[in-house]
Amino acid sequence: MRILVAEDEPQLRRQLAEALGEAGYAVDSAADGERADYLIQTEEIDAVVLDLGLPKIDGLTLLRRWREAGLFVPVLILTARGSWHEKVQGIDGGADDYMSKPFRMEEVLARLRALIRRASGNASPELRCGAVTLDPRTGRVRVDGAAVRLTSHEFRVLSYLMHHRGRVVSQAELTEHIYAQSFNRDSNTVEVFIARLRRKLGSAVIETVRGLGYRIEERT
Ligand code: CA
Repeated sequence: MRILVAEDEPQLRRQLAEALGEAGYAVDSAADGERADYLIQTEEIDAVVLDLGLPKIDGLTLLRRWREAGLFVPVLILTARGSWHEKVQGIDGGADDYMSKPFRMEEVLARLRALIRRASGNASPELRCGAVTLDPRTGRVRVDGAAVRLTSHEFRVLSYLMHHRGRVVSQAELTEHIYAQSFNRDSNTVEVFIARLRRKLGSAVIETVRGLGYRIEERT
C-alpha cells in the first residue's frame, strides 16, 4: 500500500513519512500542492495525508479538483487546531476523515488503516485468507496461528494482495503499489517476493493466473 504525504512543514513531513514507512507502507512525500497534484496524477496512490495549508495549491483546492476529476483515493486531511470550518469544508470537499494538529501519530495510523480497509471493501480490521492472517495494526502475519517473519517488501506485496482478495493483480500493479516514486524499481523483483512468500506461507496461498498476474482467493 502506498501513501502520499502532502505537508509543507519539513519536520512533520519527515515524521509522517518515517512512521508510515515503519508501519509497512511505501511513502511518497510532497512539500507543496503542485507536487502533490503531480504525484496523484502520475502515481498509483492508495491513500493521501493532505495538509490543507499547502503552498502553491492549497489542500482544499486540490481535494475538490481530484474529486471533480473522478479521483476517489481516500484522503485524510490535516487541519489547524480548532478550525471547525476547515473540517467542514474539507469533509464537504470530499475528504474521508480529518485530524487536527497537533495529533498523535498512532491516531493518524489508525485512521489511515481504516480508510484503506474500507476503500478496499474490508470490514474487519484483521485480513484473513484460509490459514493466513495479516493484521495491519501490528504488521503481524500468521499461518495457522504461528507468526511468520516477512521483509518489508514481502509484507507490502502480501498486504496489497490480501486487501484485494479475490481479484487478479498484475505484476505491474503490484510494482506500482509497493514502491515509492523515488525508488529504483525492477518489476522482476515482484516474482522474487512472490516466491519467498510462497515458501513462508505455503505454496497454495498465492495463485498465479497465467498472463494476468497473481490472486489470493477469497476464503474464510
Ligand atoms: Ca501547512
